Amino acid sequence: MFETKLNLLHFQFFSSSQTGLCYRNKGVLRLDVQLETVLSSLPVILLTATQIMHSFMSVKTSIRNNFAQLLFQMKLTAPERRGYGCLSIATFHRVLPKAERKSYPFPGLVVTPEELDIFLTYFTKYFDCGTLATQHNRFLRNDISTHPLLALTFDDGQYDNFTNARPVLARHNVKASFFVPVSAVEKQELLWHDQLGFAVLRLLDQAEGGRDQLKVILSGLGLSASSSHNMINHIARAAKNLTLEARLKLVEMLIDVSGMIHAPEYARLMTFDEISKLAKDGHEIGSHSMTHCLMTECDDSALAYEVTHSRQVLQERLGITIETFCYPNGNSDARTANAVAQAGYRRAVSTTWGCNGKNSDSFILRRYDMTAKRVQDSNGKFSPALLALRMSGFYPGLG
Ligand SMILES: [Zn+2]
Repeated sequence: MFETKLNLLHFQFFSSSQTGLCYRNKGVLRLDVQLETVLSSLPVILLTATQIMHSFMSVKTSIRNNFAQLLFQMKLTAPERRGYGCLSIATFHRVLPKAERKSYPFPGLVVTPEELDIFLTYFTKYFDCGTLATQHNRFLRNDISTHPLLALTFDDGQYDNFTNARPVLARHNVKASFFVPVSAVEKQELLWHDQLGFAVLRLLDQAEGGRDQLKVILSGLGLSASSSHNMINHIARAAKNLTLEARLKLVEMLIDVSGMIHAPEYARLMTFDEISKLAKDGHEIGSHSMTHCLMTECDDSALAYEVTHSRQVLQERLGITIETFCYPNGNSDARTANAVAQAGYRRAVSTTWGCNGKNSDSFILRRYDMTAKRVQDSNGKFSPALLALRMSGFYPGLG
C-alpha cells in the first residue's frame, strides 16, 4: 500500500514537470496533495506494519510450539531424560485469582490457583516433588527415585500463598518452601516494589495530573514509557539500579505524590501465625532477608544483619531450624554466598535460570521461574511440551 502510493506520487509529479515551469508548479501542488493523501493513509500503513509484525511473531510462536511438540514427542525434552541426575527448582511468587491479577501492578509475577493446579499436575506426573531442604539433601546423598527431583519454592511471603497456594499444594499432597522477608512480615509492610507498583498504578488512574507528575518523576530517572504495565516495570527496573537510599526515596516520593494510603488487602504479607501454620503442614520456611534489599549492595555489617538476624528471628518466632536462604532479586556473589554459609544455612537460591548438577554451588542454586504465559500454546492452553522445552536446557531463545 505504501509503495503504491509513492509510485503514484512519483508518476504524477514526473508527468506534470515535463511540460514546463507552470506544470512543474502544478506538479508541486500535486505533490502536496499526494503527500496529504499519504499522510492520511499513515494509520493504515502503521496498521499494516503492525499486522506484518504480528504475523512475524505468530510465525515465530508457531515455530517454537511445533519445535517443542516435536522434541516432546521424540522424548528429547522429557523430564525423566533431561531432569534426571540434577536438582530442578521451580519458583513461584504470587498466586491470585484472575480479577486480582488484573489489578496487581506486576501480573507477570502471578499465577492463578487454576494455573498453579496445572503446573502441579504436570510436576507430580513427571517429577518427585518436595521442599528444597528435602530434595537438596536427597540430591546430595544420591537418594533419587525413578523420577527426577524437583523442589517447589515460593518467594516473598505473600498472604496469597497462604490463602491460594496452600490448598492447591494440599490437594496434590506436595510440600514446598516459602521464603519470607522477615522485617516486612514483622511490620506488615509491603515490599518496596509492591509499594512502588501500587503508587504508580494509582497515579496512572488519576484523571488529572497523575500522569504529568509521573512524567516529571520519570524524566528525573531518564525514562519514558508508553503502556501502563510497561511503565511500572520500567520504573521498577530503573529503581533496582539506584542506591538503596535513592530507591527508598523514590518509593516514598511516589507514595506521597499518588496519595496512596494503603494497598488492597489481598496484597499484604503473611503473619507469623500464618507462616507457622504452613510450617506445621510440613512446608519449609526459609529466610528472604530482613528488608528484601539487594545483598550484593550491602556492606559487611548490613549483610550480616540481613542474613544472620533474619534467621535468628524466624527460628525464635517459629521454633524451627531455618536452613535455606533466598537472595532478593537473586543478587548474589562469592561474598554473599560466604556470609550465608557462615550464618549456618545449608543452601541458598538465586534466580539464575537452570538445573543444578553435582558441581553446583549449594549457596547459589539455580531455579526455573514459572510464568504461565510462557508455557501456553497459541490458543492460550497450557502446553506440557513448552514447559518441558523450557526446563530442558535446549531452549533456543524462541520465547
Ligand atoms: Zn523477593
